[in-house]
Amino acid sequence: AAAVALESDTAPGATADGHAVKLMANIGTGKDADRAGAVPTEGVGLFRTEVLYLGRATAPSQAEQVAEYSRVLRAFAGGKVVVRTLDAGADKPLPFVTQAGEENPALGVRGYRLVRSHPELLDTQLEALARAQAETGTTPWVMAPMVTTPAEARDFAARARAAGVSIVGVMIEVPAAALRAREILAEVDFVSVGTNDLAQYTMASDRLRGELADLLDPWQPAVLDLVDSTARAGLRARKPVGVCGESASDPVLALVLVGLGVTSLSMSVGAIPAVRYALRHHTSAECATMAATALAAQSAGEGRAAVVALLHPDV
Ligand code: PEP
Ligand code: MG
Repeated sequence: AAAVALESDTAPGATADGHAVKLMANIGTGKDADRAGAVPTEGVGLFRTEVLYLGRATAPSQAEQVAEYSRVLRAFAGGKVVVRTLDAGADKPLPFVTQAGEENPALGVRGYRLVRSHPELLDTQLEALARAQAETGTTPWVMAPMVTTPAEARDFAARARAAGVSIVGVMIEVPAAALRAREILAEVDFVSVGTNDLAQYTMASDRLRGELADLLDPWQPAVLDLVDSTARAGLRARKPVGVCGESASDPVLALVLVGLGVTSLSMSVGAIPAVRYALRHHTSAECATMAATALAAQSAGEGRAAVVALLHPDV
């Protein structure tokens, strides 16, 4: 039994019937990468690069960026590292980039939209990523936050490829993008669903307002509907669809996400063992049943209770 427990702590993520699901780390810094690199993960599913820009009067130099990105790529040499380009604005204000006094900052110039006013910031970052790729020999998967339309995905992909980035994706965290996932997937190599913002925008509920936690619940069937259509589009396009929002760290919801067809789950490193364990104890067919159950529910609470009732007793 001890050997089984040990194996389940380190083996790659997979369902009981051997369907692989990459279990990856959300990180914010090179230091995080060193720490995450020391525990068994299958790479980084979300590197929030804005952390490098915080608390400064100007953007970090390209050389500094190359050093930080290379540090992360070296910590996961040869592995999968998904790097998100600068996501500033709304809940992540950055004085030298974001506009003060926007009336609705969550609906304002944030995430990829900053390319309208600060294209040089993005281009410098994309070149830094291409240089880090050349220096380390590890190819980052590079994605843009808050992409809303297929045209934005196309523009981002063109910019990234022109800078020398090889693997290009976008986040799906706006309902419009989820509804048009098929068209967006035609422009990029992969997508990653950010359920924190997807819940905020689907449910029209500020993600920072604790009193709206019931509406922001990622078990909300409306949110899961959008994950479902995105995952289906990914399966049809044969391109990876990850989830990197907090929802991936709920071991029961993780089973639902896998049942919907999501191919990787990224979370804080501490959450990985429980998700790995839950996956090992359920088959892909069981995950699919759980996904159908969650989608059929009338509310988040009903969905969660109905899926928990389907769990194997030893989980
Ligand atoms: C998300 O929105 O779900 C996400 C992963 O990104 P962030 O929380 O950094 O906005
Ligand atoms: Mg987000």
